[in-house]
Amino acid sequence: MKEDKENCVFCKILEGNSPVSMVYEDELVAVFPPLEPVNPGHLLVIPKIHIPYMADLNDESFVHVMKITKLMAAAIRKSTFRSEGINLFLADGESAMQEVFHFHMHVIPRYKGDGFGLKHGSNNFVKMSRKELDEIAMKIRKQLKTIS
Ligand SMILES: [Zn+2]
Repeated sequence: MKEDKENCVFCKILEGNSPVSMVYEDELVAVFPPLEPVNPGHLLVIPKIHIPYMADLNDESFVHVMKITKLMAAAIRKSTFRSEGINLFLADGESAMQEVFHFHMHVIPRYKGDGFGLKHGSNNFVKMSRKELDEIAMKIRKQLKTIS
């Protein structure tokens, strides 16, 4: 299956079986540029454990990924790469544009006119009543109680 560790290109990198331009590594995370960056300076921050989806990642690793993500964003902003801004992008699930099923955070330097973006026409936003929004909030609150 696509989520299996045996098919994971990031695990091959972590095991030393695939070339990588490592930026940062500690006991919990690794950081490197993707093979096809959106812009020069684009980095991926990944946990060292093979976890396909965000909800399954332990809190310690998730918090550390976010801490290192912030550090990488600061380093990119201070670098010579063109970065008028930074986007963090997390693709969690195939429908959400996930292509490698090992949790990873994109740290993407951005500048005006770079052509990157999510497509969503203004007509596609769903208009909802307060009652519908209250129902959504209630359904998610109900699920929160089931998660430890
Ligand atoms: Zn993996």
